Amino acid sequence: MNKIEHIGIAVKSLENSIPVYEKLLGVSCYKTESVESEKVNTAFFATGPNKIELLESMEADGVISKFIDKKGEGIHHIAFDVEDIKSEMERLKSEGFVLLNETPKKGADNKWVCFVHPKNTNGVLIELCQSI
Ligand code: ZN
Repeated sequence: MNKIEHIGIAVKSLENSIPVYEKLLGVSCYKTESVESEKVNTAFFATGPNKIELLESMEADGVISKFIDKKGEGIHHIAFDVEDIKSEMERLKSEGFVLLNETPKKGADNKWVCFVHPKNTNGVLIELCQSI
């Protein structure tokens, strides 16, 4: 795996949280994007080499809503940049990690993505990202 590609933060409302992160980071949100397959609306910020993704649920029973109900708003996942997502998925499977999708999915911000179940990663949801 390469560098951390971004950190995903679950929020109740993008409308409320975008201005907070713009003030915090001193930059404007560079992109908002809805990902139908995940039922999330996302907003992205870049500061130097770092990227933050805010995630808001589209639906009351979406994965982000469920996460916030259980744990409250906060860090939802850490995403790593990979060169070859398929070979990285094979490698992780052979190491005993549980992948949440069997084939790469199209994620936000022009990426192929795959999530790794947090039960084998000390409670941290990990995302693999390969640029499209
Ligand atoms: Zn992400």
